[in-house]
Amino acid sequence: MKTIKVSVVTPDGPVYESDVDMVSTKAQSGELGILPGHIPMVAPLQIGAVRLKNGGNTELLAVNGGFIEVRPDQVTILAQSAEQSEGIDIERAKSAKQRAEQRLADQKRDNIDAKRAELALQRAVNRISVAERRI
Ligand code: ATP
Repeated sequence: MKTIKVSVVTPDGPVYESDVDMVSTKAQSGELGILPGHIPMVAPLQIGAVRLKNGGNTELLAVNGGFIEVRPDQVTILAQSAEQSEGIDIERAKSAKQRAEQRLADQKRDNIDAKRAELALQRAVNRISVAERRI
């Protein structure tokens, strides 16, 4: 069976590289499912999970935005941050979630950057779901 090469790269370096059967993730325009031989494309990603199917195995990564570039034999994901599910510190993500929720709740009193807090909340919720494999 044909496979497709996947590389996930962040400013800190490569996070993941492997040959897989299928890549699924959420672009800003909606769900993407990529099989070997997919037509070339580039799309911006949401803060979300990347699911990598390989035989009976499914690997999950938490990806913080960025872009996906698809070629028939290669998928490259460039993101500000990305973690494999087993590399996620769930307690850190829970603290980040609490901090962001507190900031959003304090919004009316303080002049807090709501968009920034909302994005921090999305990153934390995504990391928790990926770490707990609730995607
Ligand atoms: P925090 O407030 O906990 O730093 P954050 O969402 O602001 O969270 P980012 O700026 O997205 O963090 O990421 C900074 C670096 O820390 C990246 O290398 C990212 O992979 C890593 N990182 C962030 N949160 C976690 C986590 N819960 N587990 C593992 N690595 C994490």
